[in-house]
Amino acid sequence: MTVQAQPLRTVAGIVNSVETLEGAGFLVRRPFPKSSFSEFDPFLLLDELGPIDLKPNQAKGAPDHPHRGFETVTYILDGRLEHQDSEGHTGHLNPGDVQWMTAGAGVVHSEMPEAEFTRTGGRLHGIQLWVNLPQRDKMIPPRYQEIPAAQIPVAQTEDGSVTVRVIAGEALDTKAVIKTRTPIVYLHFTLQPGATIVQSVPQEYNAFAYVLEGSGLFGTAQERGEDGQMIIFAQDGEDVTIANAADAQQPLDLLLIAGVPLNEPVVRYGPFVMNTKAEIIQAIDDYRNGRMGKIHA
Ligand code: MN
Repeated sequence: MTVQAQPLRTVAGIVNSVETLEGAGFLVRRPFPKSSFSEFDPFLLLDELGPIDLKPNQAKGAPDHPHRGFETVTYILDGRLEHQDSEGHTGHLNPGDVQWMTAGAGVVHSEMPEAEFTRTGGRLHGIQLWVNLPQRDKMIPPRYQEIPAAQIPVAQTEDGSVTVRVIAGEALDTKAVIKTRTPIVYLHFTLQPGATIVQSVPQEYNAFAYVLEGSGLFGTAQERGEDGQMIIFAQDGEDVTIANAADAQQPLDLLLIAGVPLNEPVVRYGPFVMNTKAEIIQAIDDYRNGRMGKIHA
């Protein structure tokens, strides 16, 4: 008998989010990191901010803080954020916009609700992903990519049952416009009831789904994953299968995120993620002495 590679990935585990306060005190749902699950190489963190309906002047953000050694990827679904950083970038993030910030050697930035949005209140919903940088890239000059919703490629199946917004990688023969340092897949799928997708993700990639809304059936065994859960796929095949049950009451909205593991030591301390403890001490020293710059309003 010939043993053939299994092309379909199974589900390796389903992870619940924990609720935690970030920045000036806004609530996020976070599948990782937590004590039992510190990273999912090359990913360091996933936060879902909201969805929350804010009253006027209730919105809180993350005032000036540094990053070194990785990338922050912010995807806004509802509401509006303002970004400023020590490299002189000023950004306004509206629904559907993506900001891919490569902190590299160091950036100080602020991530705040936009002033007018804060005044009026409204629904806020966003996702932040931290993508680790390989050792060779940790001290590169910072890079800032801000891609408005209109420039994010969108594809749909012929029957209209599946829509995908291609933030990184490729899906339904549609390629992303964002440039990543290491190969990353970041897809936002919406599946109508009864729809199924089979998305190819090379076997060497670590892959997971995160459910934004609804409930789906994942992998070969059709395991159920729901709103706020992270579904980890095993590295036992290429194709990821996800379905929204035919009798579902709502569309299934999810992110499919994957990347090639770096397999390097990870030493993290708050906003700094390096390979050694000495590099962390250096990062703290560089920040305290102003060598990551500051925001010039
Ligand atoms: Mn930040």
